[in-house]
Amino acid sequence: MSVDALLAALPHGQFIGGEWRPSEATFEVMNPATEEVIDRVADGTPDDALAALDAACEAAEAWAATKPRDRAEVLRRTFELVTERRDLFATCMTVEMGKPLPEAYGEVTYGAEFLRWFSEEAVRIEGRFSVAPVSGQRILTMKQPVGPVYAITPWNFPLAMATRKLAPAIAAGCTAVIKPAHETPLTTLLFMQALQDAGLPAGVVNCVTSTSSAAVSEPIIADPRLRKLTFTGSTAVGRVLLRQAADHVLKTSMELGGNAPLLVLPSADLDKAVQGALDAKMRNIGEACTAANRLYVHASVAADFSARLAEKMAAMPVGNGLDEGVRVGPLVSAKQLDTVTDLLQDAVDRGARVATGGSRPEGPGYFLQPTVLTDVPTDARVFREEIFGPVAPIATFSTLDEAIALANNTEFGLMAYVFAENLGEALYVVERLESGMVGLNSGVISDPAAPFGGVKQSGLGREGSHEGLEEYLETKYVGIKL
Ligand code: NAD
Repeated sequence: MSVDALLAALPHGQFIGGEWRPSEATFEVMNPATEEVIDRVADGTPDDALAALDAACEAAEAWAATKPRDRAEVLRRTFELVTERRDLFATCMTVEMGKPLPEAYGEVTYGAEFLRWFSEEAVRIEGRFSVAPVSGQRILTMKQPVGPVYAITPWNFPLAMATRKLAPAIAAGCTAVIKPAHETPLTTLLFMQALQDAGLPAGVVNCVTSTSSAAVSEPIIADPRLRKLTFTGSTAVGRVLLRQAADHVLKTSMELGGNAPLLVLPSADLDKAVQGALDAKMRNIGEACTAANRLYVHASVAADFSARLAEKMAAMPVGNGLDEGVRVGPLVSAKQLDTVTDLLQDAVDRGARVATGGSRPEGPGYFLQPTVLTDVPTDARVFREEIFGPVAPIATFSTLDEAIALANNTEFGLMAYVFAENLGEALYVVERLESGMVGLNSGVISDPAAPFGGVKQSGLGREGSHEGLEEYLETKYVGIKL
């Protein structure tokens, strides 16, 4: 699909109460591959935010009372529309975020699947009935929607982060306001259009786009009518939001930053390990919270592994994600490129060796060559901070216990990867990793049917799977005396 066709299809305005409300103030959305403006989007104010919450609150009672099958049908129709409009969604994500087109198509499939999965979960919300063993009273346990939800999403997976939050909210009978990242609002607007076209009643989902994230979010979070805050983004912003949420003891789900270790154990199949590392590092240009951030390789195989990974990374074509054959797009912004190059420079200053990459190509766009660093000292910033870019730092270890200690030496605990063919060795390590998720001989494990989330400072709660629906349900206990 051409960019002109995409622009012609994009809706404009704030989506509030089932209407597209025009806004005087607008902001620019940039293409990170060309540094050109793609479109202008409504720049929402605190008043817009409260209007969106008003709409969600007005729709809440009726939506909570709908039959599960009706909610399921809307989600199913939205799944079908997003799938039919895959060219539109994929082109939009490549243009506003930078990911190569094949990966953008992959995100359409992944993001849409949350709609289908939760359309199926919507009709499986169940409570319990039992007899208390001692008192004999009857115990009725029922599940009810938590109420109006505020969802804040990041720029790295513009469709999937929205569907992963809104599909379970809709399935559970909650209404919602969503605020996308200002870097990538266009995909969320297309998603709002799909929900509207699928017949979602007015006000059930509302969207506020804004460059003033804090200014529009604070009044919503401070409003006692809000019952749930769900956030995906950095740990720093997550902490700020948790403090705000504390005032109302607001129910929260937090999908925060990661610092994933990737461990190559002595028994690893190196073909699998190199491919897994490539997948875990380079998916989404390295801009994934699950990206392999620290590669710890057993000393006996480190030279071979590093050389093979460097060869594969060097062969990945870098360029505009719309161009055929491109495997590595630009980083999302100049700021992101600066952050990644600072981390890279810090590692080199401390003695790391550049096995491949390390520089940026000439011309416009926030590009960085895929980079492999070896002999990285363990105190390098690149091992402590989330890289969020195409840089793979490698260090070695000698014993399994040393690998486990290195892997757990972080405040984060979202994702870890282990490559090993010896099951005993693999499980010894997996059981000791402080991580919400582990990829065993796999570099990509995200799946709508699996519970996604972290421990330690990587977050609270889970998204996807049945656990993802529970986050939008309250449990009510009714004690019955006969
Ligand atoms: P970010 O925290 O800067 O922004 C995330 C969202 O929060 C955006 O919509 C932004 O506009 C908004 N925001 C920023 N400051 C705010 C404030 N004071 N009040 C309210 N909203 C505010 O993160 P980012 O740079 O957009 O995304 C990258 C981060 O997201 C990384 O740390 C990554 O690990 C994390 N992430 C986590 C997951 C996960 O599931 N754990 C998934 C994707 C990304």
